[in-house]
Amino acid sequence: MREKTHLTGLSKAELERFVERSGEPAYRGRQLFGALQRRRLRSFEEMSDLPKSFRTKLEELATASTLTVESRYVAQDGTRRYLMKTHDGLPVETVFIPEERRDTICFSSQSGCPLQCDFCLTAKLGLLRTLTAGEMVEQIVVALNDAYGVGERTPRGTNLVAMGAGEPFLAFDPLMKALRVMSDADGLHIVPNRVTVSTAGVVPKIKELAHVPERPHLAISLAAPTDELRDRLMPINKRWPLAELLAACKEFEESLKPGERFTFEYVLLDGVNDSDEHARQLANLLNRHQLRAKVNLIPHNPAEELPYRPSPPERVEAFKAALEAKGVHAYVRRPRGRDIYAACGQLAARRTQAPPALYQLS
Ligand code: SAH
Repeated sequence: MREKTHLTGLSKAELERFVERSGEPAYRGRQLFGALQRRRLRSFEEMSDLPKSFRTKLEELATASTLTVESRYVAQDGTRRYLMKTHDGLPVETVFIPEERRDTICFSSQSGCPLQCDFCLTAKLGLLRTLTAGEMVEQIVVALNDAYGVGERTPRGTNLVAMGAGEPFLAFDPLMKALRVMSDADGLHIVPNRVTVSTAGVVPKIKELAHVPERPHLAISLAAPTDELRDRLMPINKRWPLAELLAACKEFEESLKPGERFTFEYVLLDGVNDSDEHARQLANLLNRHQLRAKVNLIPHNPAEELPYRPSPPERVEAFKAALEAKGVHAYVRRPRGRDIYAACGQLAARRTQAPPALYQLS
């Protein structure tokens, strides 16, 4: 049997062509786009304004949803984690983070991840498969519907971060496609300026992103200020070492808009990469390249399988101060949803809440 087309990943123009090929007028494609993306409907049955005969035809050729929600976890801080499954049975995780002024949805670009960052739980899964554009868009639809009701307006704006499972730059084409679909004003209307893509450092794609006309913001995961340490923590560094990575960032900088900076993420691992000396090395590295950047410090989110502990709060503050003393802007990220395995680097298809935290930050 031929696989049905997943319509959630198609642009308005593609949906017009799709319905025309099945003998319907183009405006039905626009109607369908509104039903899928603005009203966030995930079945043709619910699209009662479309003629029954058209819906029957759609059922044969296409599908409006492929992900099924297996479980949903709500953290004490209101963060929600969704564990979903693809049509072929692979785990997909999405995190909804409510904030006072805007919501942030952290979505996955791959099921599992091929990069073997030593501090990340997702790495333990290995790569299961890269997600399609439709599977990325659908994660956002599911999270918004659960938060506000199917098709209901979202009272706050939505920011997206491609920081869930997977390496977004190894899912470059479907990711860019998903972002184009989601930016449509007749649909979800989440524009690239509201989106941040985080990479472990796939250098050629950093260069490619610089030339994408409507592009998202860029974040880069560093985790270490020297090649020696970074090789150990993030094996991707052996392929694209720091000098190449920062040269690509420098090139990317030309595409920054006035006031825009890019972000370096630095996960703080107790006794591993969090000394004052590491902070000085990091500041020197960034200053040497004169990058318009800020550093987000992420205290490690622990899991039993990971041989690291988060740096104690005093160390985090001292590290931040050491960066700032050298003129580097640094911010400490508050972990969200740790108690439900929803925080950075904890997405590994866990079916449970976290056990009482062993090394909880105060
Ligand atoms: N592959 C991409 C995006 C996913 S990870 C990347 O590497 O950027 C998102 C962020 O979480 C990265 O900055 C990563 O370094 C960080 N991270 C991974 N595991 C973590 C953990 N256990 N605790 C805190 N941050 C973690």
